[in-house]
Formats: sequence, C-alpha cells, structure tokens
Amino acid sequence: MYDDNHLITRLRAASLGHETRNFATFPARASMTFGELFAGAERNAAALVGMGVQPGDRVAVQVDKTIEAIQLYLGTVMAGGVFLPLNTAYTTPEVAYFLGDATPRVVVCDPARAEDLAEVAGGARVVTLDGKGLGSLTDAVVGRGGFDPVPRKADDLAAILYTSGTTGRSKGAMLSHANLAANSETLRDYWRFTPADVLIHALPIFHTHGLFVATNVALLAGARVVFLQGFDTDAILDAMPQATALMGVPTFYTRLLADPRLTKERAENMRLFISGSAPLLVETHEQWEARTGHRILERYGMTETNMSTSNPYEGERRAGTVGFPLPGVEARVMQDGQEVPAGGIGVLEVRGSNVFQGYWQMPEKTAEELRPDGWFITGDMAMIDEDGYVTIVGRERDLVITGGFNVYPKEIEGLIDDLPGVLESAVIGVPHPDFGEGVVAVVVPEGEGTTPEAIAAALDGQLARFKQPKQIVMIDALPRNTMGKVQKKALRDAYAGLFS
Ligand code: AMP
Repeated sequence: MYDDNHLITRLRAASLGHETRNFATFPARASMTFGELFAGAERNAAALVGMGVQPGDRVAVQVDKTIEAIQLYLGTVMAGGVFLPLNTAYTTPEVAYFLGDATPRVVVCDPARAEDLAEVAGGARVVTLDGKGLGSLTDAVVGRGGFDPVPRKADDLAAILYTSGTTGRSKGAMLSHANLAANSETLRDYWRFTPADVLIHALPIFHTHGLFVATNVALLAGARVVFLQGFDTDAILDAMPQATALMGVPTFYTRLLADPRLTKERAENMRLFISGSAPLLVETHEQWEARTGHRILERYGMTETNMSTSNPYEGERRAGTVGFPLPGVEARVMQDGQEVPAGGIGVLEVRGSNVFQGYWQMPEKTAEELRPDGWFITGDMAMIDEDGYVTIVGRERDLVITGGFNVYPKEIEGLIDDLPGVLESAVIGVPHPDFGEGVVAVVVPEGEGTTPEAIAAALDGQLARFKQPKQIVMIDALPRNTMGKVQKKALRDAYAGLFS
C-alpha cells in the first residue's frame, strides 16, 4: 500500500526538522522559511480540495512569478492534482486552446485576465492570484488548516507542461511524480547541491527549467533561493556575493557580461553557474571564464524529458557541448534506424526515468516520438564524440537540405559568430527554386561596418560551396522567446520569399 505522496514526501524530506530555516529570501519582502512554505502549500491544497479538486484533476495556472505561485504548485500536487503552468505571454485565444484541451477543474490567473478567461474556462472555477501574491485564491487559502497530502504513486501524474510549440499545435507533456523526483534528485547529487547552497532563482516558473530544475533541486537539497520575479541584472549582481549558484539561460550570461560590475570579486562566493534551455556560445563560455574565473556548466534537456545530459561537476566542462548523459539516462544517436558511431550526426534519443509519460490525449503523437521500449526521439540533431560528450547540432526541423545535401546550421553559425564585427547569427533554409532550400544567414553585427560581402568573403574557402549562405541578411536582433530560444520559424517565415 502506498500511503504517501511520492513527490511531496521527497521535496519535503530535506527540510523536515529544519522548518525555521529560510527557504526563500527576496529583494523587497520578508523571507520565507521552509515551514511557512509548506504550511502555505497545505492551505492551498485544502482550498483546492474545497473547490472540488480530486486526484488527477488539472489546475491550470497563468500567473506572475511569486512564492505564492510556488505554494500553489506544491499545494496542487499535495491535493493529488496535476499542475499545469502556462506562459504569461499567452493570449486569451491561446489559453482557450489549452483549457479546452486539458479541461482543468480550477483556473488560476491574474485578476486582470479573470473576466476574459472565465469566458473560455468551460466548467472550471476561475480564481485569481496577482504579482504580489494576492487575489481570490489567497482569500480562499487564508484561514485554512493543515492538510495531509493525498497519497500518490510514483507513476501518477504531477504536472502537464505544454511544449513551446514552435511548429504545429502545442502538446501537453505528462510528467509523473517519479519523473520529477528522480530527475531532480539526480541533478542535486550531480551538481552537489547541499543545505549550504544559495541559488539565485531568476527563471520563469511556467517552464521546466525554473519550475522543476531550479525549484525542485533547491527543495530536495534543503537549499535557500534568492527568489527574483524575473531576470534583473541589478538584483542578480546584488545577490551574487552571498549566493553560491545561478541557473540561467544563455541570455542571462550575455546580459551579465555586458555589465562592468560583473567581476571575479563579485563571483568569489559562487561555486556554480549553470546554463541550459538554449545553446550557449563558446564565446560566452570563454568570456565568462575570463571575467569571473568560473567555467559555466552547460546542460541539456527538454519539457518531455526533464534534464538528460550535463557537463561534469568535476572534470572538463567542454564549451559547445552539453556533457554526458546523466546517471540513469541513456542516450544514442540514430540515423535511418541505425545507431550512428561516435562522431557521426543523427537524431538524439534518450531513455530513462526522466522521460515523460506521453502527450496528453494525443496517443498518435506519443507513438510517433516515444518508442515502445522507452526510447524518446528528441527531435534534436546531435553528435556524441569518442569521449562521450554530447553536442547538440540543432533541431531536426531546422536542418537545411539544399540540392540534396544536409547542412547543419550550427556549423555555419559557429564560423560566422567567430568573425570580428559579428555578435551572433542564425542560419536557416528557405524555399529555393533550384535547390529546394537555400541557405540564408541572418546576422546581428557588433559595431559599425560589418557587411554581408565581408562575411561572405570570410566564409569562402572555409566551407564547402553548398554550405555557404546564398544570402546574408543583417538584422538588429534575433527573435527570441522568453526562454532565450531563437525563433527560427519566425525567421523562415520572414525570409520565405527571398529566392522566389
Ligand atoms: P523546452 O522543451 O522548451 O525546454 O525546449 C527544449 C529544447 O531546447 C531542446 O529540445 C533543445 O533543442 C533545446 N535545448 C535545451 N538545452 C539546450 C542546450 N544546452 N543546448 C542546445 N539546445 C538546448
């Protein structure tokens, strides 16, 4: 018989007996202890059950980042519910799709959205939570008593996260209690998190990175977080002298590097800088080391798999790679049904307790991407070298096929990014009357005077002719989503007519 709640029991274990220790500190409000965090989560659970939430019911949440939203996440899981966070950037028609698909029992949103969402919420109860942690949810939570977490097994669902969906409809990735607990336990150990750590938490909490990697790892370790509502250079630099770790997307690191207050002295107390969710440029890695003395640890994962690979804590953190498969995770590179030998490029597949349970109500999509023997087809093109380091070459759908030849954008982007006068670039394929697709380089210059002709000349002789961009377009900034990922689809759409 299972009599506990698999995930909550584990998230709570490290702080049992240490309830008066701080879990979260904030730039502008009183700190919160572990005891307060979980007591609030219990009150949330009681309130949700009061609203009719039964085990397995979805609780959809589109709110600003607050510690109360973290209590809502924990409370939902305690109540036996399935937490369903939504990007705050989604518009009402977008949210309407998610609510229609997931049919939640309760919808929690910002008060400013309540009226609009009530119209698309179906039978769900709509309650509110604002950026200060106040709203009708808070009113329902205050005054509730303690709550015994509803028993949930390892393979019961704890969360559904919709994939970013850069193409086609977003799919709801179903994550079980064990998916989340096992992956975060692995990361805690691999990255050596302990109660002595202070993690700067500046990531959004509607995404796997901020919600699971950052929050769950800190809880499992009994570590403290400096809880920031979003990326804020001043707040991060202020927190750094007392902190030990930062988890960020690559743009965190480039923005911090742009600030002269980032120095070795300021980073002296830090032991670990982690990057993921999008590729970290080798250049950023090198600049960060030169400036702070720390080598950024890059890891790789996705909504469906939690984290799959990481550079080592000790041992070489190799720039441009995402390190090794984590303990308990297998990885292989496949092409045409065959495993590709070391050094070859193909589609990355992973297997392990980190891999999700399938897509919510999309058995065909699940069958396309999750093999019966547990291998998940990530859709990322990758290479595993002789030493076992994994390099992500790009999304399979971003691969360019020109005149029948495969072109991996990352190879060309790497060369262009290294040129003087270039900040960064994105290489895409767009329809071409002769070649099927034509290679286009979209380049963000650094300073004045960088021309497409100079870039083309620099690439000449370095790349086979078929790989050389047929057009080089200059642009002020690459389109990115909130996790810092370059939106190649938007670029392909923008330049679709270039060769027609
Ligand atoms: P998401 O599901 O939003 O977390 O997006 C996952 C995708 O982000 C992966 O499939 C990769 O394409 C990309 N990604 C995540 N981490 C990295 C990384 N360290 N380097 C390159 N791409 C990454």
